[in-house]
Amino acid sequence: MITIDGSFGEGGGQILRSSLALSMMTGKPFKIEKIRAGRQKPGLLRQHLTAVKAATEIGQAEVSGDTLGSKELVFRPGKMQSGSYSFAIGTAGSATLVLQTVLPALLTTTEKTELTLEGGTHNPAAPPFPFLEKSFLPLLRRMGANVTVELERPGFFPVGGGKFTAVIEPTGMLNRLDLCERGTIHEQRATALVAMLPTDIADRELSLIARRLEWKNPVLKTENVTTSRGPGNVVFIEVESEHLTEVFTAFGEKGKRAELVAEEALKEAKQYVRSEAPVGEYLADQLLLPLAVAGGGSFVTSVLSEHTTTNIEVIRRFLAVHITVTELGKRSWKIEVAS
Ligand code: AMP
Repeated sequence: MITIDGSFGEGGGQILRSSLALSMMTGKPFKIEKIRAGRQKPGLLRQHLTAVKAATEIGQAEVSGDTLGSKELVFRPGKMQSGSYSFAIGTAGSATLVLQTVLPALLTTTEKTELTLEGGTHNPAAPPFPFLEKSFLPLLRRMGANVTVELERPGFFPVGGGKFTAVIEPTGMLNRLDLCERGTIHEQRATALVAMLPTDIADRELSLIARRLEWKNPVLKTENVTTSRGPGNVVFIEVESEHLTEVFTAFGEKGKRAELVAEEALKEAKQYVRSEAPVGEYLADQLLLPLAVAGGGSFVTSVLSEHTTTNIEVIRRFLAVHITVTELGKRSWKIEVAS
């Protein structure tokens, strides 16, 4: 039995999610202690519990310690079962992080799986839906996995109630992925999304972006959402290069000026463009598991986050892959995965 210390490194939910993913994939049982000890509200929240439930059902696992607030969990996976599943978090907790939990193992199966996930779809501190759709999943498709997602309605903090579907059609083996250069930047797009809020917010966000950007022909778009259960405001900037698209997101909240939201998204996008590394901070930690499943690959990232270094350690506990991190220069690290 592999024992994982949930408080090490980054000390958050990702240690649990990656352990579940790797356990489902390898068939190796694990015990995790001190779950999310590094967080303000430690232990399992509804979002993590839903991820455990999804992993248990799809991985036909035996589980103990799967209660709200629990700081210890034992997970014994069975045979992976493809099919049709629905999981609802019941709060605004991130539904995309439930997908992050079960997706790596589903890529190793041979049959199609359809997931319907409900909860938050555009959350801070989680992969927002546009990031999944435009950045992460196209890279998985390049590796040979056919994964598509469709947003039925977005869900924002604090109301939640978002819903999306994911169809995973694995092709058996994943190809390696090498992303060491991003090539020329083809286009930069900014979208300001407002739900149940005045369109004026989006207009102010986009007009600040238009003023501050050095892009020659920026593509600016307002998305007025009418289907959500609660209000929300999100700005996302897509940087489409020859070899990948990166997405940078900022979130509006009560009392926060629209201009500040736009500035936050801009700051991240500008830092990325300046760094020349193809892979941004969030994509870096999320690419590790697919690369480990493929048994090989490499990328250059502009930020070596604690999420990335911690995820590398979790992968090493379950798989005999070699992962090396080499500092190439200021704001540039190369990460290589080899079997
Ligand atoms: P944790 O904090 O351990 O629950 O993990 C959060 C996960 O969400 C990590 O995989 C991050 O890369 C991801 N994440 C957080 N913020 C963003 C963002 N703005 N865009 C994409 N992914 C994100």
